[in-house]
Amino acid sequence: MSANSSRLQAIQSITNRKPVEVSKPDHLGNIWAEDVFNLARMEWALSKSAFKAMKSTVQTGAPLDPATADVVAAAMKEWAVSKGVKFFSHIFYPMTNITAEKHDGFIITNPDGGAITEFTGSLLIKGEPDGSSFPNGSLRMTSAARGYTAWDPTSPAFIMQTDNGATLMIPSVFMSWTGEALDKKIPLLRSNAAMDKAARKVISLVGETDIAPLNSSCGAEQEYFLVDANFASLRPDLLLAGRTLFGASPAKGQQFDDHYFGAIPARVQVFMQDYEDQLYKLGIPAKTHHNEVAPGQFEIAPYFEAANIAADHQQLMMTLMKATAAKHGFMCLLHEKPFAGVNGSGKHVNWSVGNSTQGNLLDPGSTPHENLLFLLFCGAVIRGVHLHGPLLRAVIASASNDHRLGANEAPPAILSVYLGDQLEKVFMDIKEGKLMSSARGGDMDLGLSQILKFERDPGDRNRTSPFAFTGNRFEFRAVGASQSVSGPLVAMNTMLADSLDWIGTKLEGALAAGKSTPAAVIAVLQELMQQHGNVVFGGDGYSPEWHRMAVEERGLKNIPTTADALPALREESVKTLFKSTGVLSPVELESRFEVYAEQYLLSIEVEAKLVIDMAKTLIYPAAIDYLSTLSGTSAGMAAMGLDLDKSTAKLVAEHTNAMMLAVAKLAEALGKHDFTTVEEHMQFCAGDIRSLMNEVRLHADALEVNVADALWPLPKYQEMLFIK
Ligand code: ADP
Ligand code: MG
Repeated sequence: MSANSSRLQAIQSITNRKPVEVSKPDHLGNIWAEDVFNLARMEWALSKSAFKAMKSTVQTGAPLDPATADVVAAAMKEWAVSKGVKFFSHIFYPMTNITAEKHDGFIITNPDGGAITEFTGSLLIKGEPDGSSFPNGSLRMTSAARGYTAWDPTSPAFIMQTDNGATLMIPSVFMSWTGEALDKKIPLLRSNAAMDKAARKVISLVGETDIAPLNSSCGAEQEYFLVDANFASLRPDLLLAGRTLFGASPAKGQQFDDHYFGAIPARVQVFMQDYEDQLYKLGIPAKTHHNEVAPGQFEIAPYFEAANIAADHQQLMMTLMKATAAKHGFMCLLHEKPFAGVNGSGKHVNWSVGNSTQGNLLDPGSTPHENLLFLLFCGAVIRGVHLHGPLLRAVIASASNDHRLGANEAPPAILSVYLGDQLEKVFMDIKEGKLMSSARGGDMDLGLSQILKFERDPGDRNRTSPFAFTGNRFEFRAVGASQSVSGPLVAMNTMLADSLDWIGTKLEGALAAGKSTPAAVIAVLQELMQQHGNVVFGGDGYSPEWHRMAVEERGLKNIPTTADALPALREESVKTLFKSTGVLSPVELESRFEVYAEQYLLSIEVEAKLVIDMAKTLIYPAAIDYLSTLSGTSAGMAAMGLDLDKSTAKLVAEHTNAMMLAVAKLAEALGKHDFTTVEEHMQFCAGDIRSLMNEVRLHADALEVNVADALWPLPKYQEMLFIK
């Protein structure tokens, strides 16, 4: 079959495809959390005392005693078995962005050869996958590869359905035998605890006595692309790297702005509904879906939840999204930049902190007292982003997200905070001493709730800011679509904990010196703004002027690549931050640097090898074929005394040769191994390797628009983006 006939066949299969069979829609009430062993189900299945113990574990993190664990395990198994489950698995989140599982059967045999099911509290609580197969930095030698998974009872167990089976999934942490965190969940739980402790102190200093446990919340907006699987299977780059490494821009891209919020294509709508019904069964509150900016790009956002649950749900959403898309004949791309020239995909992490007694602390209240707390928490975020901008950049660093950050479609690689005009003015007034309490104290006007009602208007949002206040939460917009939300949440919670701790100490001093509460709060915030106000920026984050000003006048860092970003994890200030808050020990932090650096090197290496392979075995043969046709025709025509214009042949020959020259240079660069440090190796990838890959692509893409369509082997951008 010639190259183009597979392409044509792909188009034909798509045109003639039969719709997938989907079930009839059911009431939300009938399917909501149907596959989750949540508190409501436990209340029904457990004795009163066991339920009470379990509830306090879920709600306050109190340890679970073994006897209760046995009772819970038995009830969980009974429920699961009644739903056809035969296997269970601890599900955990290694330092890569993936989700990991190890499945075991409930089955045991008895002496008569019969099969029965068994599930004890200890099986529920602890699992032992072979830890050596997961990246661990240098935390654990392969010879001592014991890793433990341990149930996180604050995240409910659930059932994963497949067409002919079901598995009980138990959300778990993953640690080494020496107790070090090997995953993304442990630091998240610890960061939440650190934030709770520091926040509690500040809240009580402001005069509150009844303070419920604080939790961080997260609502993540997930962008993604759908490409028909018939095309994807003809693109080795999509299959292995998740993005196109070649591809000329189509005549039509996103310039008409006609896709964003447009009518959702019927086939996609069917996929979305199928997907969302599965999410509802798993208790995941899918809330919003719409077309995104680029053709073929969409977004889904669940309603926000406690950060730990939201992070688990986010992982599950990504897994299910890919599986459901496949069922509907699509490949779901979560890569941050699958197609050059059209927008990439991000995952905006909306984040706030609060509790049941004070409510959302990033929501301005209706009284000046509530607004004082709001200003303190907001100030703490400002200080955190200023001090730890490079850390925030590091936790979103990946080879794939580098394509997005810094381009004019995503927040820049400079971390600044957007507050909105009116809140910015409040903070600037505080900085300049214009917002002081009167001598008697307490009667200053902080009518923020009125102001901020206006701020909440989405029209007022600044889409060019990486870190924006949006009325009652911050939105970290620079996170990549394929990334786990845990890293960003850990960084945000931890920097908040650290800043609240600083604020607590300052407040204590000011109050002890006899200041009134409002006066003390404003004085602390004034000091904070004088030191950290530089990070607040409301202008156009994409403008070259900001890039210059941020660095030269504000002293902020512009950190364009992962190679530049990851070394922040080795900075003393970051080590101190994580150690002092108890979120990550220095070895745990170092292991993260090592794992992320290795991931970066591996991703670039895989892509570079693919570039070489595809250029040599797909693109070069197509170009040669075309040249052979042209030269044959030219010779034949010359024999007839006719002349064929040679400019196309010349152009194709030139690009073919130049492409192969670049391929040779890339292959040679890939062979270089004499790096003294991993930092040096990363820089080499970010610089030399990536620019050589671009050089190969430049010529290949020029060939695509000059070689006969009939010979071109790879599905083209307009086909992948527009044919659904
Ligand atoms: P937009 O596209 O306008 O930013 P979306 O409605 O698409 O907004 O997504 C906003 C996300 O923020 C949702 O997941 C929503 O549940 C979440 N969210 C709303 N309030 C909060 C809050 N207080 N804390 C954390 N997340 C929130
Ligand atoms: Mg949105």
